[in-house]
Amino acid sequence: MSLELNDVTLTYPDGDGVVTALDRVSVRVAPGELAAVIGPSGSGKSSLLAVAATLIRPDSGRVTVGDVDTLGLRPRELAALRLSKVGIVFQQPNLIPSLTVVDQLLVTEHMRARSVREARASAMETLAAVGLAGKEHRHPHRLSGGERQRVNIARALVGRPSALLVDEPTAALDHDRGARIMELIEEATRTFEVATLLVTHDTEHLGTVARVLEMRDGRLRALDPA
Ligand code: ADP
Ligand code: MG
Repeated sequence: MSLELNDVTLTYPDGDGVVTALDRVSVRVAPGELAAVIGPSGSGKSSLLAVAATLIRPDSGRVTVGDVDTLGLRPRELAALRLSKVGIVFQQPNLIPSLTVVDQLLVTEHMRARSVREARASAMETLAAVGLAGKEHRHPHRLSGGERQRVNIARALVGRPSALLVDEPTAALDHDRGARIMELIEEATRTFEVATLLVTHDTEHLGTVARVLEMRDGRLRALDPA
C-alpha cells in the first residue's frame, strides 16, 4: 500500500510558454515510511504534494496510491480514491470553530459512510494516538497551536489512508512544538503504517528523519544520510 510517482512531469502555462514545476520526478514511499522533501520556495514542493494527492493530473508519468494506478481514473473515481486512501495535512489546520475535537474528525467519517459507532471508535483511537485523549470534547479555541495541529493530523488519519501528505507542518510553531509535531508525524507513520510524504523548507527538525530528498527547479534527488 505504498505511494509511488514514476517519471512525473508537470508544467503550468506561463505567458507564451510554460514553467516546469516537476521535471521527471520519481519517488516511492513504503508503508510505515516517512520521506521528507526539502527545497527553496518555488522549487515545486507544493506541486509534488498536489500531484501525489491526485488533486492535479501531471502532463506525463504515473501516480500510484495504495497500489491503485490513478492514470486512467475519471474525476469521480479520483475523488473516491482520495476519500479512502489519501490523508492531507495542510499548513493551516482550518478547524471548524463550532465543532468539538472529536466532531472535527467525524465530519469526514460521515462522508466515508461508516456507521456512527465505527466512526466514533476510529476517531477516539486516532485522537489517543496523537496525544489528545481527554481533550476530545474541547472546542478549537480551548486548544494550543500545537494541539490544533494534532487535530489536523488526526483528521487526516481517521479514515486510515494509505498515503499521508504533509505541507510545512512546523511553519507556524515555535522550535519545541515544531520538534514534537515532527516526532508525532514519524510515530503516526509507523503506528498507522501509512506512506508519508512531507515537504518543508525548514531543515531544523529533520535530525531524526531517515530519508531526506531535495527538490530543486522541479528535480528531486536523494540526499546522503548525514
Ligand atoms: P514550492 O511549493 O516549492 O514553493 P510550487 O510547487 O508552489 O513550489 O511552485 C513550483 C513552480 O511552479 C514555481 O515556479 C511556481 O511559480 C509555479 N507555479 C505553481 N503553481 C502555479 C500555478 N497555479 N500556475 C502557474 N505557475 C505555478
Ligand atoms: Mg509551497
